Amino acid sequence: HAKQTGTDPIQFYSLDLKIASERRLMLEEALRHAIEKEQFELYVQPIYDLRTNTIVKAEALLRWHISDDEMISPDIFIPIAEQSGQIVAIGRWVISSVCELLAQMSKQNLSVPLSLNLSPRQISDRHLFDFINNAVIKNKVSPDLLELEITEGVLVDNHEKVRKLLQELREMGVTVAIDDFGTGYSSLSYLKYLPIDSLKIDQSFVFDLGYNSDDQAIVLAVIAMAKSLKLGVVAEGIETQQQKDFLEQHDCIIGQGFLLSRPLTIYNFIKLVEQNYREIRG
Ligand code: C2E
Ligand code: MG
Ligand code: MG
Ligand code: MG
Repeated sequence: HAKQTGTDPIQFYSLDLKIASERRLMLEEALRHAIEKEQFELYVQPIYDLRTNTIVKAEALLRWHISDDEMISPDIFIPIAEQSGQIVAIGRWVISSVCELLAQMSKQNLSVPLSLNLSPRQISDRHLFDFINNAVIKNKVSPDLLELEITEGVLVDNHEKVRKLLQELREMGVTVAIDDFGTGYSSLSYLKYLPIDSLKIDQSFVFDLGYNSDDQAIVLAVIAMAKSLKLGVVAEGIETQQQKDFLEQHDCIIGQGFLLSRPLTIYNFIKLVEQNYREIRG
């Protein structure tokens, strides 16, 4: 007969679950007011030409200041917003803000293409095309400066609808990248079917470059495939010189990661771009 210790693991487990679901509900509720309370902020992570250390584009990454002293990671709140449907409104805030930033930069004679992330629920919003189109027109943004990042997850259902949407967006002039490439959908057939411009190699494969020969093989295969399909390739999550050297030596010349720059506030991003321009133009 087991001794009663009061540390029944099952009880603890359900308590953890209860706390997790309460926190989730709390976050979902707080998210409802995040836009009107102006709690969102765009951070921007520069993407570099690894050979020259030139900033060639940048990715907009959302931050949520849930209170004065707490910032919540998108890895936590995007999935909640995705499930609750709030991602559509939040995503529109991101689209508008990125277009405003592009307009602000072009007034300062800085033309750096910006990408933004779209999650599956946003892709299935039938007003997405019009919303993007209107934001581009309203801000007089050159559409080729806007890039959309989608994950393989959007392809789970309704390929044909996604293909049409992406086709329309590309006709408008925006470009499309597959984000976190290699972590999602298993079939590669969509690569010849979907109108896309580039692949972003997921950081989980970049992480062990130089140590793990399997990851090395995967990265080399993605680079080779992108090349033969005439797609661009971008490496994510470059943290070490060794990773950067490996990528550069194997013809993946575009990348982002903490080694090069963390995601920055808009203010610091613009300062860095100006400095980068000065260094290049002498
Ligand atoms: P993602 O689109 O794959 O973005 C890359 C993530 O990797 C970012 O995390 C970035 O800060 C992080 N990162 C960049 N370089 C490094 C590195 O060298 N090492 C490591 N360990 N991490 C690095 P973040 O900003 O926390 O965003 C997480 C994810 O949340 C994004 O992954 C994206 O899927 C999603 N997300 C962010 N902003 C938005 C948004 O506006 N809309 C939507 N739908 N999703 C977003
Ligand atoms: Mg991304
Ligand atoms: Mg990614
Ligand atoms: Mg990711």
